[in-house]
Amino acid sequence: MQTEKDFAQKIFTDVREMSKSDLGVTRLGYSEKETQVLRYLEKVALGLSMNCSYDEAGNLWMTLEGKHPERPFLMVASHADSVPEGGNFDGLAGIVSGLCAAKAIKESGIQLDCNLNVVAFRCEEQGLIGSRAILGTLTPEDLNRRYRPECKLLGESMQDCGINPQALVQGKAYLNPKDVAAYFELHIEQGPKLEQSSQAKVGLVTGIRGNVFHRAIRCLGETAHSGAIDFEFRHDAVAAVAQLFAAMRAHWIERLKAGDDLVYTNGVVNTPPSQSFNIISGEVTFSLDIRTLSVQTREYFYELFKKEARKIEADFGVRFEFDQAFYIEPALSDEHLINKLESSAAQENIPVICMPSGAGHDAGDIAQEGIPMAMIFIANQNGSHNHREAMRMEDFLSGVQILTRTLKDL
Ligand SMILES: [Zn+2]
Repeated sequence: MQTEKDFAQKIFTDVREMSKSDLGVTRLGYSEKETQVLRYLEKVALGLSMNCSYDEAGNLWMTLEGKHPERPFLMVASHADSVPEGGNFDGLAGIVSGLCAAKAIKESGIQLDCNLNVVAFRCEEQGLIGSRAILGTLTPEDLNRRYRPECKLLGESMQDCGINPQALVQGKAYLNPKDVAAYFELHIEQGPKLEQSSQAKVGLVTGIRGNVFHRAIRCLGETAHSGAIDFEFRHDAVAAVAQLFAAMRAHWIERLKAGDDLVYTNGVVNTPPSQSFNIISGEVTFSLDIRTLSVQTREYFYELFKKEARKIEADFGVRFEFDQAFYIEPALSDEHLINKLESSAAQENIPVICMPSGAGHDAGDIAQEGIPMAMIFIANQNGSHNHREAMRMEDFLSGVQILTRTLKDL
């Protein structure tokens, strides 16, 4: 009998080989490569005597039949696609964890009460497309977007894969949330927390952070000669924005000390191309991204940001113009499922820590639809969305052990 480690390792190696690019792997959503990976996974699942089918969005469903197939089912899912020149484990690890669990359950001679569906979602990296399509939340605008300038429109790529995209943007849900008893997703961590933890290499995810973000807030001051204008006559947009960032950083540290879950980022800061070292800048454009598990914290910190901006307007004689704010709601994990995972980990003698997920996942929109959701994170040595991404097999197998026991016990 093939060990779980060999079984998993072979899938990781085969899929890496199938999708390798100059650096790392490239299997873009709704590409031929992604289809090829799904066909391969289907073959693996058939080898475990699972039933395989594709839904309206082309996601692959691999079913281990339970005693009562009519009952709400258990679901273990993640995505088959990757970013360009990305890592092999981001997404794939979650699908393989489900197949490993199915294999272990089958070989232990146990038949679960309900079906176990291991699902390989398509096109997560371009906006959770495969999962949103079957939840009925995909929009016509999504179909008219290009992932990168050289890519086809999403709708065209879907069509090339034999999918009817128009049927997916009518608001119709192909997955009834009531049919899912519990949803699990194992994923590599996309930050360094577990890798740097001396306590645990497996994390239980308490929720996926929501955010409020702006792409381009403008700070307008007065463009002027850097030598000729004394302090009291300046309306320096760069100085104003720098002051705002420093003030928000101090507030952020305060909130962390108070125990809030919060991350704050100004990822883009630009002055106009005509700007030079000897010109006081009259304009700065910058982005804002506030993420947290708590809607209350988000509202509080966003209000604080606007309050600080108003104060700085008065101090510096500048004006802030806010572009449209976008909101993504946080998705909390199901407490009961997290408790189950925690007790499975204790029974398996695997140390775990609880942590939020800063990045979005298919699990997020699944939870938004009211499906009980929980995620397991695995330590990752070199960060995510790059070809150096890494994962130790022993950490992965610890996650699989926790998942398998939980599926059996539910
Ligand atoms: Zn991912």
